[in-house]
Amino acid sequence: MSYKDILSAAGLSASDLSGGTLTVQTPVDGSEIAQLAVHDVSTANAMIEKSHAAFLVWRSVPAPRRGEFVRLLGEELRRQKQALGALVTLECGKILQEGLGEVQEMIDICDFAVGLSRQLYGLTIASERPGHSMRETWHPMGVCGVITAFNFPVAPWCWNAALALVCGDPVIWKPSEKTPLTALAVQKICESVRAEFGEDAPEGLTQVLIGERDLGEALTAHKNVALISATGSVPMGRAVAADMSKRLGRTILELGGNNAMIVAPSADLEMALRAIVFSAVGTAGQRCTTLRRLIVHEDVYDALVPRLVTAYRGLPIGDPLEDGTLVGPLIDAQALAAMDAALETARGEGGTVHGGGQALRATHANAAYAHPAIVEMPEQSEIMHHETFAPILYVVRYRELDEAIALQNAVPQGLSSCIFSTDIRETEYFLSAAGSDCGIANVNIGPSGAEIGGAFGGEKDTGGGRESGSDAWKAYMRRQANTVNYSRELPLAQGIRFDI
Ligand code: NAD
Repeated sequence: MSYKDILSAAGLSASDLSGGTLTVQTPVDGSEIAQLAVHDVSTANAMIEKSHAAFLVWRSVPAPRRGEFVRLLGEELRRQKQALGALVTLECGKILQEGLGEVQEMIDICDFAVGLSRQLYGLTIASERPGHSMRETWHPMGVCGVITAFNFPVAPWCWNAALALVCGDPVIWKPSEKTPLTALAVQKICESVRAEFGEDAPEGLTQVLIGERDLGEALTAHKNVALISATGSVPMGRAVAADMSKRLGRTILELGGNNAMIVAPSADLEMALRAIVFSAVGTAGQRCTTLRRLIVHEDVYDALVPRLVTAYRGLPIGDPLEDGTLVGPLIDAQALAAMDAALETARGEGGTVHGGGQALRATHANAAYAHPAIVEMPEQSEIMHHETFAPILYVVRYRELDEAIALQNAVPQGLSSCIFSTDIRETEYFLSAAGSDCGIANVNIGPSGAEIGGAFGGEKDTGGGRESGSDAWKAYMRRQANTVNYSRELPLAQGIRFDI
């Protein structure tokens, strides 16, 4: 399939893709695939007002009916999975299997949200006063601004949007300037769903802002954006948090990770090997949950690490649209330069580097393909505390489990973690309060590739937000405590007397 065919299969016409100033290049070969028109800040502000007007309508549509909108969205995504998955691959360079997987996550969260639309449960609470009842109810919150990163161009939007929409919140989306095309394609799908749904889905229910960070800042600055869910780097999250705190707005922050695996002496090393390669090399090391640090018990180090180095040598690097490729390109030349710089620093800190360096230079001179790297480190040095968004896996040894857990927790980020062990004492300790400090802690699977049913997110510099499954929906609603007096008296709480 040509790039043109991929773009048109995803519903993008020549006029959608031309006439503007934002150049979009595919990381597959570096060629230009669009020149998009961008929004300016005053247009963004007008669009936010439109979202707010939509909120005033949508909040009163019954939640199960709002769920019907998301059901239709999920159906349309099912129909367009192949086309949208190929566009994800073309735009951000992850292999087609992962592009399709990303669309499947969108479908899964739509299914989840449809069920949720008939729940959104509150509580009844025992009142201390006779003839009184208490309850807690959940109401729509307001406009939900969604800011997303390049590496997952569509799934995080849907984790937020599917929940926000059933919760009664319109969604206004600022995708990464590096991957705006999938956002345009999804917005077209949303508009077709809105037409099918009928009049009670207001105009402006979902919108997309195309452009750079100034549009993200327009969202954080506007008082009518009740909630910002922002996915991206830690510096971006700090800026968003600071802006939102000025107006005491609500945030869900999903920021960088620096994820580790502990391989214990009792581990099934065959399974660990496969899990390591998938988690460290998938999406060319550009997942927030990518495995970046491997903490291996000294008794199994020599049985595992040389095999890992050999497995890395055989990895098929190439065009992510082609069957059989497991490692696609990095997003751009800066990402490759950051990888080279990190490897240089690691060497300076005593590391032994296996792999690394640019790949496919002869055939793909304008793209940023890299050989994934394994770096054996004498200790967890400074460079290992940073997230370099590239396929670098640092390896260190440990002797005692407490030491391994301390190493795992010693970095600023707290997204995902895992242990490979068949010793239940070790695995339960790892999951206990004294174990991993991350938002995600797994046993005998890698740190990446989460299902939508769990609440997704992490602690410390990862931002503390949770989205997707479990009770993450509560962040998209405002909680209200109600006390109803159905008696003929007016007793005060805490027995206070106030007679007039
Ligand atoms: P980035 O921070 O450069 O950009 C993310 C988005 O934020 C973009 O849309 C950008 O325009 C916008 N933005 C930047 N500064 C802003 C500001 N001051 N105000 C408002 N918006 C602003 O991130 P990236 O390079 O696209 O993505 C990679 C990073 O994202 C990595 O750190 C990765 O770990 C993280 N990430 C985290 C998760 C998660 O769920 N925890 C998921 C995917 C990616």
